[in-house]
Amino acid sequence: LKYSEEQAKRKQLYNQIQETKGNIRVFCRCRPLSREESSNGCATVVDFDAAKDGDLGVLTGGSNKRTFKFDRVYTPKDGQVDVFADASPLVVSVLDGYNVCIFAYGQTGTGKTFTMEGPEHNRGVNYRTLEQLFSVARERSDAFTYNLSVSVLEVYNEQIRDLLATSPASKNRLEIKQTSEGSHHVPGIVEAKVDNINDVWSVLQAGSNARAVGSNNVNEHSSRSHCILCIMVKTKNLMNGECTKSKLWLVDLAGSERLAKTDAQGERLKEAQNINKSLSALGDVIYALATKSSHIPYRNSKLTHLLQDSLGGDSKTLMFVQISPSEHDLSETLSSLNFATRVRGVELGHARKQI
Ligand code: ADP
Repeated sequence: LKYSEEQAKRKQLYNQIQETKGNIRVFCRCRPLSREESSNGCATVVDFDAAKDGDLGVLTGGSNKRTFKFDRVYTPKDGQVDVFADASPLVVSVLDGYNVCIFAYGQTGTGKTFTMEGPEHNRGVNYRTLEQLFSVARERSDAFTYNLSVSVLEVYNEQIRDLLATSPASKNRLEIKQTSEGSHHVPGIVEAKVDNINDVWSVLQAGSNARAVGSNNVNEHSSRSHCILCIMVKTKNLMNGECTKSKLWLVDLAGSERLAKTDAQGERLKEAQNINKSLSALGDVIYALATKSSHIPYRNSKLTHLLQDSLGGDSKTLMFVQISPSEHDLSETLSSLNFATRVRGVELGHARKQI
């Protein structure tokens, strides 16, 4: 009897958690101190004592400590495999017809690209996702056929660029249109069909080469633009002949750091304002979804407008908030953690009780 009571309690708790958290998950990942930071004797301000429970401690000066709550907390020791193990069920759900968005948010240099792209010998979420999708598609080939295609886009200064387009005319200033059924798309963007992981590799390469064109400093440019990989899935159920479409968006967001006041001039100021605008618009949309608001402000930025069909409804959202452990980055770290806390549906200042 005791066992069944306990089981009932667990089930109730599980249902409550589902209800509270909905379809939005926020995972926090902290990078290691860099070699330079270590050799300079840089102090660490994060503590991972309760990381297993999703708690992250931040030493904010003196003996003060703030604790932030997430669905997962990854320490610098956790690798790409650990991170992907948690993201994997979510990405696979695109093969069940769900739309999914995964974002990496944080200050430049905190590991957004490491998490999403990863180095060649230690790949991140993007590549592992496609590998997994091909593998699950193969396992299910008796019952379903899947057609996968990918687009690689960039949003820079509130303009969408198609990084797979070959002619300059079809590359820039693309517009979002609404179909008669109400779904959103960008007419004319390249959707490259991919049949296996080798196809994917060459498409991703083409995308990142195109990103470099026209910018003096590739790293700087990429930290100021949102880099988007969209995987489109067409599914045919071989039992009943039914066809469905779903999308998975993998987004490496522009750096969230605030610009020093003295740097804020000309083109840099405009870029900074656009980044600010689109990141807060994204935060507002996810917060409105998490708190089940009746109005979701999708139209406030190109990014949220573009992803509108995959944010909300029964779509699933995962945000990686990336942070640095260094004392020098404390104020940006707190700002990212505050953003991520709000995104989880907890308004700062009057946080409601979390399960
Ligand atoms: P961002 O995309 O946020 O600007 P990067 O992904 O370029 O940051 O990461 C900055 C540096 O930190 C890179 O040299 C990267 O290899 C390293 N790095 C980031 N996260 C990790 C990690 N979890 N483990 C090891 N190195 C990391």
